[in-house]
Amino acid sequence: MPYRGRFAPSPTGELHFGSLLAALASCLEARSRGGEWLVRMEDVDAPRVVAGAAGSMLACLEAHGFVWDGETLWQSRRLDAYRAALDELRARGLAYGCACSRKEIAMSAKTRAIDGGLLYSGKCRHGTPSGRPPRAWRLRVENADIAFDDPIQGRVSQNLARDVGDFVLLRADGQFAYQLAVVVDDAFQGITHVARGADLLDSTPRQIYLQRCLGYAAPDYLHVPVATNMAGEKLSKQTGAKALNLNPPAANLTRALGFLGQCPPQELARASVGAVWEWALENWKREAIPRCRGLRTED
Ligand SMILES: [Zn+2]
Repeated sequence: MPYRGRFAPSPTGELHFGSLLAALASCLEARSRGGEWLVRMEDVDAPRVVAGAAGSMLACLEAHGFVWDGETLWQSRRLDAYRAALDELRARGLAYGCACSRKEIAMSAKTRAIDGGLLYSGKCRHGTPSGRPPRAWRLRVENADIAFDDPIQGRVSQNLARDVGDFVLLRADGQFAYQLAVVVDDAFQGITHVARGADLLDSTPRQIYLQRCLGYAAPDYLHVPVATNMAGEKLSKQTGAKALNLNPPAANLTRALGFLGQCPPQELARASVGAVWEWALENWKREAIPRCRGLRTED
């Protein structure tokens, strides 16, 4: 079976240890099975993009010995494709306009969604109140379980109506939502396997549902544990994660392999980047990845 994986970072800061884990796991999963591995820059959320971050991320990946197939795909250049997908969903009655303000959504929400946000009540499902134009576009979800088997996390099941609600595809600020962009691009790039951090585990049922709505094949999903700081927060720019360029690439890679349960010999940290990759490709064992959503790490 052909394998095509990808790494899809958002250029909101420097590459840090948490993003290196996702890059390394997805690349080793692909390469150890003779597959292709692509890089996609998820810069669809324009207000969050940091100028220069994408270029420095790509340079950092190269410095760590990553080699990807084909050109980098930029989401900021794919807006027409997202528009076409939204139009199709609208034409089929699956997407609807929502006129609610943030305040109205907060007032009418009865429960929290699985990601901690407010669960939209579905107020505009049958049309917006008269005279009020849509601000955002939402996907009509079903009251049915969406489940998949993750080789690391086990069986994951969600009822979108209960756990998520009708979610946003085009935001009130005119930006396409991550969930739509990622599904359209995974299909466009022919991705067969998605290996990424478990912080995205709760998004996967939404993406599988969107794939069904759009008639796309669903890739296989695998979610590796995310690195957290000692306070249990996911490493990110916001939680003060250090940029990777402070340490030698071979040391970063060796540490990442250890985090992913691969037990690399410690002297690899002082070897060449090429030597680390050689060891990693020869010894990569998916079964050794810790079966949890998050693991603490120093710094
Ligand atoms: Zn509404």
